[in-house]
Amino acid sequence: MTRSEELFARAQRVIPGGVNSPVRAFKAVGGSPPFIVWGEGSHVRDADGRSYIDYLGSWGPLILGHAYPDVVQAVRDAALSGTSYGAPCPAEVELAERVVRSMPSIEKVRFVSSGTEAAMSALRLARGFSGRNKILKFEGCYHGHADGLLVAAGSGVATLGIPGSPGVPAGTVADTLTAPYNDLRAVEEVVSVHGRDLAAIIVEPVAGNMGCVLPASGYLEGLHDIARRAGALLVFDEVITGFRLGLGGAQAQYRVTPDLTCLGKIIGGGLPVGAYGGRADIMGRVAPEGPVYQAGTLSGNPLAMAAGCAALDALRRPGIYERLSALTARLAGGLAAAAKEAGAEVTINHVASMFTLFFCRGPVTDYRRAKAADTARFARFFHGMLRRGVYLPPAQFEAAFVSLAHTDLDVDATVRAAREAFAE
Ligand SMILES: *Cc1c(COP(=O)(O)O)cnc(C)c1O
Repeated sequence: MTRSEELFARAQRVIPGGVNSPVRAFKAVGGSPPFIVWGEGSHVRDADGRSYIDYLGSWGPLILGHAYPDVVQAVRDAALSGTSYGAPCPAEVELAERVVRSMPSIEKVRFVSSGTEAAMSALRLARGFSGRNKILKFEGCYHGHADGLLVAAGSGVATLGIPGSPGVPAGTVADTLTAPYNDLRAVEEVVSVHGRDLAAIIVEPVAGNMGCVLPASGYLEGLHDIARRAGALLVFDEVITGFRLGLGGAQAQYRVTPDLTCLGKIIGGGLPVGAYGGRADIMGRVAPEGPVYQAGTLSGNPLAMAAGCAALDALRRPGIYERLSALTARLAGGLAAAAKEAGAEVTINHVASMFTLFFCRGPVTDYRRAKAADTARFARFFHGMLRRGVYLPPAQFEAAFVSLAHTDLDVDATVRAAREAFAE
């Protein structure tokens, strides 16, 4: 038994499934997860001393790589002055000013402690602001695990929500409508029936949670127009794409201005932080300025805020996003060539520093097409890569992330490993 296997056995006795977030348990790919004891730059090392090139990046936050010195220093300094006050602290203002400066659609921002809270709170606000109840989300998009957002992909075009988990009452998701991603006509149909009750359309502007799926040309503009006409708010869930696609997120890249934006992951520099923000008149409805209640004991704590500030400052240096995009494009090109050599049929979607290698014929533009991927083949490839020291997200329908710490040598080693793993 390895140390990781021992730890996993112990974990399963005291933690459901042995993990504190389901995907970590390797259910989708089989086997037993390595327990990570150390991370630095582009690498992590497990409890048995094995080292991996890491493309998980903690599922998105670690765009600077593991243990980035400025972030570590900021956390260390902050901790020495106390980790939480439950009273206002300067670091909250510092991080809010950085977010508002980077994303012009955000005039005011409220910090929470996770992406789940951000999306849940943004939708409560959209409902409170509009006086309407229904929301529209897209199949394959994930907005955290709040009850009303855990809706399985509906059948047909405009399906009333079906709970995606036991414990979510049908009544809770009765106001959650779903439509396929990248299909404006489906949105029009939903709006033609429910438009007057629609509080918000929430979307991942680049999907990361059905694997990386890019918005079709004109899709986000179309959503913007439809929302505007229906009098509904457009909410971009940029928990992954915020500060990943650039300082201005997907909204800057695709030049579409949402009413509200959800942030998380990168803005915490690897500590638990989420945020929602947007137009000042809408954010003005949040308590205590307005009546829509939302609160958090550890929200805006100085430790997490300091980490976030250090991370966002590091990302302002020139040329960073160009470097990340170039490295990711080189990796995607290398993986595609390796797959072709081995006769493996793959589609690689990538934008900026996020990518997914789907085992299917492309293009992958929505959840239905993503689901056509050969998950057994992915599982085999995943373990082939893991054995060769490359840690990819342990499920087909996830985005992988390149960080600033990744090097050309990492990319070369990854492509070499893939050449062998594809052939297995
Ligand atoms: C990760 C994620 C969330 C949830 O964030 P947590 O911090 O895990 O609660 C919400 N939306 C998107 C798009 C995400 O990728």
